[in-house]
Amino acid sequence: MKTATSPVMIGDGAARAARKYISQNFAEKSVLAVCDTNTEPIAKEAFDGIERFAFPGDVIADPELASPLSERAAAKKCLIAVGSGTVHDLVRHTAHELGIPFISFPTAPSVDGFASSVAAMTVSGQKVTFPSSPPVALFAEPEIFAHAPANLSAAGVGDMLGKYISLFDWRVANIVIGERIDGQIYALEQSALEKVAKAEPGSREFAVRLMGALVTSGLAMQAAGNSRPASGSEHHLSHLWEMHCINEPTAALHGEKVGVATLLLLNRYRSLEKFILRKNRYEREYLLPAFGKLTDGIIRENLPDPLSGLSQKTLDDKKGELQNAISLLPEPDFVRGLMASCGCKMTLASVGLPDTPEFVSKSLEFAPYVRRRVTMLKLCHIG
Ligand SMILES: [Zn+2]
Repeated sequence: MKTATSPVMIGDGAARAARKYISQNFAEKSVLAVCDTNTEPIAKEAFDGIERFAFPGDVIADPELASPLSERAAAKKCLIAVGSGTVHDLVRHTAHELGIPFISFPTAPSVDGFASSVAAMTVSGQKVTFPSSPPVALFAEPEIFAHAPANLSAAGVGDMLGKYISLFDWRVANIVIGERIDGQIYALEQSALEKVAKAEPGSREFAVRLMGALVTSGLAMQAAGNSRPASGSEHHLSHLWEMHCINEPTAALHGEKVGVATLLLLNRYRSLEKFILRKNRYEREYLLPAFGKLTDGIIRENLPDPLSGLSQKTLDDKKGELQNAISLLPEPDFVRGLMASCGCKMTLASVGLPDTPEFVSKSLEFAPYVRRRVTMLKLCHIG
C-alpha cells in the first residue's frame, strides 16, 4: 500500500525525533511552525528557536483565513502543523498551494485527518474537500497529546466509531452498484477502529491507541486517494449540520457530531427489515428550501446520479447480502456504552441541535445530498 508520509512516529520521544528530522532535512530558518493561540505554548516548547505563526484559537478552516499564513510562508521551505484538525487543514491547504512540504505534529487525538491527503475546508458556508498533499512526516508525542482537553479526545472517539457506518456504507455500495472495495485498505481502516473499540478508556495507553487509530485512518484515506474508507452517511449528517442550512451554528466539535450521527444511524440500520428504494430528487425547487444559497453547488456535486438505473427489483435481489452487511454492524448498546465510558456526547441536544422527530427526519432526508457517494441513507428509506 502506498502512503507518502514517512516516518510516522507515535510514542515517547516523538518531539525530539521531530526536531532531529527537521535539522537533518531543512535549515531551521527556512521552517515555519504553525499553531493557534491554544497550541502556541506547545509549539514554543517543542520547536524553540523556530519561527512561529499563530492563528486565533477560534479560527475555522476557511481558505480566505489562510492568506496571512501564505504570505508568511512564501519564503519558507517547510511548514509544521502544531495543533488539531483545523490547524492541519489550514497548513495542508497552504503548503499545497505553495508547493512545499509540511510536517504533522498533532497535539490532540481529536480527528482522523492528520495524515490524510484531502483538506476539509469551509467556503462560504459549504463544506468542501480540496485535493491537497499529505504530510511528509508525522510525529505525535504522548507527553503532549495524552494531556489534551478531554472533550477533544472524546471527539476523536466519536470520529473513529463513525467508521462502523463508513465501512458498512462502503459494503452497501459494493453490493448494489459494484463499487470496488480495496481489501487491504478496508482491513487497515477496520484495524484502526478495533484499536479504539477494544481499549480501556481514560489511560495514557488509551490516548496512544486512539491517536494510532486516527493516524491509521488518515493513512487509509491517503492510500485510497479519497475519504471513502472513513466517511459515509454519518459524516454526511455531520457535514449537513456543519453547513448550518437546516440548523443554527453550533459550537460542537466535528467528532462529537459524527458520534451522535453514528448512534442515530446505527439504531435505524440495525432495525431495517425492508429495503425500499429511496427516490433522490435533484430539482432546484426541492433542494432550495433546505440548502438555500448552497443549492447549485449541491446539485453539481450530485450529478450524474450514482443510483440511476437501479430498480427496486435489484434491491429485492440483493436483500440477503444487505441483511448480511447489517448483521456485521455492532449492537447499538455496545457502541453507546463505549461512548459513555469515553465521555462522548450522545444526543442531538448535547451537540446543540434540535432534539425533535421533525429535525431528525429532515436531517435524514437531506444529508445524502451533501455528497454524491452511495450510502445506505442514499439508497433506502430510513424512517
Ligand atoms: Zn471525520
